[in-house]
Amino acid sequence: KNFMRKPLVGTSWKMHIHSIYRGEALAEAMHRSVGHIEAVDMFVLPTFPLISKVANKLKSGNIKWGAQNICIAESGAFTGEVPPLSLKELGCSYIEIGHAERRAMFGETDKDVYKKIRLSLEYDMTPVICIGETEEDKREHVGNVRVHTQILWALNGLQIEEMKKIILAYEPVWAIGQAEAASADYVENIHGYIRSIVEKEYGKDVAQEIRIIYGGSVSPDNTGPLTKQENVDGLFVGRFGLSSENFYQIVKTTM
Ligand code: PGA
Repeated sequence: KNFMRKPLVGTSWKMHIHSIYRGEALAEAMHRSVGHIEAVDMFVLPTFPLISKVANKLKSGNIKWGAQNICIAESGAFTGEVPPLSLKELGCSYIEIGHAERRAMFGETDKDVYKKIRLSLEYDMTPVICIGETEEDKREHVGNVRVHTQILWALNGLQIEEMKKIILAYEPVWAIGQAEAASADYVENIHGYIRSIVEKEYGKDVAQEIRIIYGGSVSPDNTGPLTKQENVDGLFVGRFGLSSENFYQIVKTTM
């Protein structure tokens, strides 16, 4: 393993947690189970109305928090959107951008993803950039092309200093919400490919420093082989981040 890259484990609660009170209780439980851990960077992404409550529960520990989305603009006539400054004021450290559900259900494009990355960086919040091929891409053997295109859009014009702040989350769409994660070999192969793209664009130092995490049906049962891979620097957890015990088990496997 490359010890220069600190392991990172994050969870997006998506809209699974739909009660503020339940979210508060879960944040408190997570704080108790993993809030003391220093060897791994951790984050939780709740729904927008939950952020301040979660922040309150997590502020004295090592779990950071953030948002699942951000507006493409700073302010103005954008009904229903959430402005970057407000997220910063709520203490958000991480912003998830371009998740497959946002791309598929809310029509988010590579260009939107690019704008959101720029704004997150301007407000000094870490973008967690989700990329990954669909089932159809995989069937037609254009998975690598899809990932390549998404990365070039996302990184377009980023400076070296900015590159060091971003997180790439590889999430094959066909492995999200399934019974099984993608296999460790498959994931390692693409993570290596992603790192090679970064190296080609930004050089070896940046490529060695950038963290690439895997998401898609991560559970305590399958993290072992995944986190042993040279190019897997952490995990992005969905359903199994809804229990503090499962999250603890997952974090432990990355240490
Ligand atoms: P899942 O979600 O762990 O529930 O499959 C993963 C994701 O969408 O990041």
